[in-house]
Amino acid sequence: MGMKQLRALVLQTAILAAIPTVTLAQSVLSKAERTSESMEPALVHSDQALAAQAKLDALQTKFGRKPNIVWLVVDDMGYGDPGAFGGGAAVGAATPNMDRLAAEGLKLTSTYSQATCTPTRSAILTGRLPVRTGLTRPILAGDKITRNPWSDETSLPKILGEAGYKTILSGKWHVGESEGMRPHDIGFDEFYGFYEAEKEISQGVDKRRYPDLVLNPERLAMLKATGSSDALVHGFKGGVTSDVEVIDSIEKMAEGDRLTKEFTVAKIKELASGTAPFFLEHCFMKVHADNFASKEFEGKSASKYPYKDDVVEVDSYVGQIVKALDEAGVLDNTFVFVTSDNGPQLDTWPDAGYTPFRGAKGSAWEGGVRVPGIAYWRGTIKPGRQSDELFDLMDLFNTSLHLAGSLDKIPSDRYIDGIDQTSFLLADDGRSNREKVYIWNEQDFMAMRMYEYKMHLKIVQEHAQWLNIDMTTVSDVGLAPWLFNLYIDPKEQYPVGHRMNAFLASMAAEMKGHAATFKKYPPKNIGLGQ
Ligand code: CA
Repeated sequence: MGMKQLRALVLQTAILAAIPTVTLAQSVLSKAERTSESMEPALVHSDQALAAQAKLDALQTKFGRKPNIVWLVVDDMGYGDPGAFGGGAAVGAATPNMDRLAAEGLKLTSTYSQATCTPTRSAILTGRLPVRTGLTRPILAGDKITRNPWSDETSLPKILGEAGYKTILSGKWHVGESEGMRPHDIGFDEFYGFYEAEKEISQGVDKRRYPDLVLNPERLAMLKATGSSDALVHGFKGGVTSDVEVIDSIEKMAEGDRLTKEFTVAKIKELASGTAPFFLEHCFMKVHADNFASKEFEGKSASKYPYKDDVVEVDSYVGQIVKALDEAGVLDNTFVFVTSDNGPQLDTWPDAGYTPFRGAKGSAWEGGVRVPGIAYWRGTIKPGRQSDELFDLMDLFNTSLHLAGSLDKIPSDRYIDGIDQTSFLLADDGRSNREKVYIWNEQDFMAMRMYEYKMHLKIVQEHAQWLNIDMTTVSDVGLAPWLFNLYIDPKEQYPVGHRMNAFLASMAAEMKGHAATFKKYPPKNIGLGQ
């Protein structure tokens, strides 16, 4: 965000402040407490914090080492795809494994991502909003960024590595592929996977979808000359990086997730036999377009569509990875979190997921940023829990550091947007420590959710139904911000501003507080901005 955007943001919030008549002297409805200038204010629940710590202490006594941390991140899976979130067999692709983890763990129905891949993937590893790190959108072939955003960021795997963890990223990366930006450059000990999103690779091999590129040797050569990777890569921190297999057909692309799953399962066995705890981030390539059914799963969904077959495949692999943890004897000392990195990409329908909400990937409407969230820890998270309180995927940064006993290693020289949610997730009746979620779209501060309310300062308008990336404009709202009550209007269709002015005032004050953090901690520009 440049000075121009910052001024616009401050101006927007100043306009907001002038609308209601009640006083704005720090928001009347906020209960969050700020413990540090550089940390997002959090709700304080002392009793549940003690209960969660007692559980962690008991685990330390029982296992004699810190817990393992495993994140399973699906690409572009819609909120409404897993059965536990209303989809599954009802939309032609049963998901028994994710459903079981949700039933035996904590189902989080208000989990928020960023609107696209790179922003979410970098935010969860830094605990920082993309607008702060500069990683506001995917880096595309031909982009010339002006600086390496990672050079002065402190990543989660880096801190965990220093705390004695083995750190592995298996599967999709999509946060830069040049030296200095690869997973094994930014803190992970080992990387086995793909630098790019599925479509970036398949557009070079699928002549049915991309004949104008694949059947045109000159253009194809131009694409290859941008240097974008089309291989399954294996890399080690400070060591060699090699191509395992070049993806030169859709049949090979279809098997990509099977290969990274096999790596992950083998790696779990190896890590479990060692003495160090581990952090494993397994990121599926699927179900990002283009979806191709693998040999084993073709036609295995009731729907028979490739997207749906791939949901069934991913769900099966989620089950196999958790089973591998169990067979290796480490499941009871492992925190597992299952989610998606953003909403479904409806631009590519029918090669797309399902969301019951307005909008889709790329949008600040709920359809773009509200994703399934499942926290599972056998013996530690009470089975059958469900909560609609707020969880931002950036909270995984702080929470994972708490589990590793490294909360004191969170940098204090920059703003951290994540919140430690350990007590929410682990205490039997835990409440969320997060009061608000801020929703950005590249350089634009779009909206804020507070409790069940969501207020838009800007909106994404589609100019063709379902095209939330390829044909939209971002507009300012008019006289008043658009305020929705998501409990009575989850599709954000009918603003309630003029019947709820007191709350409007409170939310406006909170937005001002958020804007102020950018004055003290200026955002970084790496050349992806406007
Ligand atoms: Ca994605």
